[in-house]
Amino acid sequence: MKIPESAINEINNRIEIAEVIGRYLQLRRAGSKYVGLCPFHNEKTPSFSVDPDRRFWYCFGCKQGGNVFQFLMKMEGMGFPEAVRKLAEEAGVEIKWEADNFKQDTAKQRYLQLLDRVCKYYSHILFETGEGAPGREYLLQRRISKSVAEKFRLGFAPLNIAPLLKVVHEAGFSDEELVNCGIFVKKERGVRELLSGRLIFPITDFQGRVVAMGGRILGNGLPKYINSPETEIYSKRCHLYGLNVARGPISRENKAIVVEGYLDVISMHQIGFDCCVASLGTALTTEQAKLLKRYATQVILAYDGDSAGAKAIIKGNDVLEEEGLQVTTVVWPEGEDPDSMAARGRQAVEEVLKAKIGIVKFVIQRQLKLTDTTTPEGKENLVKLVLPFIEKIQDPVRRDAYVRELAYYSGFAESKLALYLRRRKHKIDYHPFPEFKAHTRLLNTEEKLFSLCTAHPEWLEQVKKIISPSLIGDEYMRHWFEKLWLLDKQDGPISVTELLGEGASEDDCAKLTEIMAYDRLDSNFEDAIQLASNIRNENLKKSLDRIKYQMFAKMASGNMAEDDPLYLEYMNLQKILRG
Ligand SMILES: [Zn+2]
Repeated sequence: MKIPESAINEINNRIEIAEVIGRYLQLRRAGSKYVGLCPFHNEKTPSFSVDPDRRFWYCFGCKQGGNVFQFLMKMEGMGFPEAVRKLAEEAGVEIKWEADNFKQDTAKQRYLQLLDRVCKYYSHILFETGEGAPGREYLLQRRISKSVAEKFRLGFAPLNIAPLLKVVHEAGFSDEELVNCGIFVKKERGVRELLSGRLIFPITDFQGRVVAMGGRILGNGLPKYINSPETEIYSKRCHLYGLNVARGPISRENKAIVVEGYLDVISMHQIGFDCCVASLGTALTTEQAKLLKRYATQVILAYDGDSAGAKAIIKGNDVLEEEGLQVTTVVWPEGEDPDSMAARGRQAVEEVLKAKIGIVKFVIQRQLKLTDTTTPEGKENLVKLVLPFIEKIQDPVRRDAYVRELAYYSGFAESKLALYLRRRKHKIDYHPFPEFKAHTRLLNTEEKLFSLCTAHPEWLEQVKKIISPSLIGDEYMRHWFEKLWLLDKQDGPISVTELLGEGASEDDCAKLTEIMAYDRLDSNFEDAIQLASNIRNENLKKSLDRIKYQMFAKMASGNMAEDDPLYLEYMNLQKILRG
């Protein structure tokens, strides 16, 4: 299927790019642009800019840029059609898809289709066949209702895989594809299923597309859990289990609860805590923190109370704080985890969540439990352990509150702790909104004129009287000038989307937006005319040089007459050049 260009332009013109981007990062107005901290690379001073008139973004730091669709594609990991569809809905533009039979599905799309099919098959086995009985029995024991199990698309992988293989083979999938998507393993002849005999927890991306699977054994066998490996479509560190179900509630409540395992998530949802996700590994990654940041500013880490859980909390806190998220943690009662607590009912879990504490308090409490903090050495160790956590807190009010708390538990004077904090080598300077980075690359004449004309297409009529794209020396720029000439637009600035058209490479986007972003656009009409004249004169001079060379050659061979056409052309060009 192909999307008509007219629809793309219409959506592009109706959507406010700064508003869309502003949902993901804080933007501040700076002249005719907006600036902010780039979401695609780590930075402390903003070098990300948005031009609301020509409808593009560009980062001077990582040198990436594009239109609103490309922003969503990068930010949400969407494909182009998906980004268009999402914004079309917002803009109220109806898309009439054009059939495009020649386009083959990419391998990635095929893996997604395959996993979706397998997932449906397993779910059928779990709920509708005798083979699925052990799975249903298990869910019953765990008080997991059918509707919640269906929401998470749980399934059961049967021991006999012949019928499943028949289904997927008939649907046109090869053994190689079965292996590539991670849930089958190659054997001498054919393939075998990785998770057979297990209760299946499909792992999806945030949109609910199955990208991997986890399987739990029913009974006492080992290993308790097997997860399908990382593949072309699945990277553990980039997904959160349950996010597709939880993202709505998370964004409504501006809060996410992060637990350890599949069953923890499902049990929490079962008793109504539907903003719960799991990290698919022990500690949260930066990618996962970024995912959460799209939907909420507050995160509650609710890992098991053992020492692995404590380490995961401390590490998770680091990556979340780094993304500017507010982190608290809950301490489950001795020997309990989210799943076992959920068995006691909503009220019991509510109590634990209400008693959530900040990371500093968590570290203090843990240290109080593990070591003797009544001795001078113990007190000093406590301070040494806790100060680095306080140091990382960016909000000065919260930082002060924690200094007070540490003073209380360690017996050190508050003023002394504050002094330590200031003296520590790695001071963190926090600016609420730092200055936009200055950039010094100067555009050349052609680039500058191009950028000006995209901002003021109403000047084009006059500019066209002076030059044509054929006079543009740089081949790459000539291409863009040709597009500009073809667009023939008079009303309002020209958007990046109109220039790019379909199938522009990432490289093209970056180069084009760079040229358009560098210009400060404080030039006036006379400047544009001057730039165009300069380009024309440069060309005239080159032509003059060429003619001069030809005339000398003729003179040297004695063939030069006084009314030679070359001479007349030379005089003519000189006249034009003098204006
Ligand atoms: Zn950047």
